[in-house]
Amino acid sequence: MGIPEAIETIQERIHKACARSGRKAEEVRLMGVSKFHELPAIEEAWKAGIRLFGESRVQEAASKFSDFEAKHPETELHMIGSLQRNKAKIVTGRIAGGYLFDAVQSVDRDELIAELGRLTGDRKNPLIVLLEYHTAEDSKSGYPDLDSLFRAADAVLAFPGLALRGLMTMAPLTRDEAAIRASFRAMVFARDALAARFPAADWSCLSMGMSGDFEIAIEEGSTLVRIGTAIFNP
Ligand SMILES: *Cc1c(COP(=O)(O)O)cnc(C)c1O
Repeated sequence: MGIPEAIETIQERIHKACARSGRKAEEVRLMGVSKFHELPAIEEAWKAGIRLFGESRVQEAASKFSDFEAKHPETELHMIGSLQRNKAKIVTGRIAGGYLFDAVQSVDRDELIAELGRLTGDRKNPLIVLLEYHTAEDSKSGYPDLDSLFRAADAVLAFPGLALRGLMTMAPLTRDEAAIRASFRAMVFARDALAARFPAADWSCLSMGMSGDFEIAIEEGSTLVRIGTAIFNP
C-alpha cells in the first residue's frame, strides 16, 4: 500500500469510528506525523490531502519544512516531541512567509512556557499551545496532575503571544484496550476540569490517538489524531 491509499484507509476508519460514536467526521483532524520521513514522502502526503504535519525534532523539522512551507503556504506544522528550552528559539522562529511552527503540542514544563512566552511577545499570529498531560505510566513527559495543569494554564494565559487551545496525551503502548481507554478518559476528565476553572479559555483541542489506538481515541472524544506509521510505513 502506498501513502495515498494508506491515507484513504485511515480516513475511512476515522469516519467509521465517528459514525459508531455519534460524532461528525469533521470534528476530528488528521495529522501526518512525518518525523524520520523525507520530503518526497511528505510531498506525497500533501498531494493526498494532508495539510497538518507533526514533527518531534526541531532541527529535522527546520531542515525539511522551511522550503516546504514556502512552497505550500497552507501547511500547518506542530511540534509534538519533547522540547528543550534552548531549542525554543528555533521553534518560534520565522521562515519566508510566516513561522516554522504554528503550534507546540508538547508543552510540559513551566520554564518552557516562560521561554516560549518571552520569544513570542511580538508575534502577529500567536503560537498555539497544548499542554501535555501525563496519562500513561510508561511515558516520561507531561504534566503529572490537575494542579500542575491549572498552574500551567494560568501561566500560558498570561502571555499575549501564546494561544492556549487544549491538551495532548500519549496512551500507554499496550494491547490492553482498557488501559488505553483509561488514559483517554483521564484526558477528557482533565479537560472538563480545566474548562470549569478557566471558562473563558479555548479547550477545543484534544490531541490523542496514534496509529495503534486512534479509533479508541475518537470514541473517547479526540479532536486531533497524530498518525505516523500507518501513513508513512503502512
Ligand atoms: C511518533 C509520534 C506519533 C505517531 O506515532 P505512530 O504510532 O507512528 O502513529 C504521535 N504522537 C507523538 C507524540 C509521537 O512522538
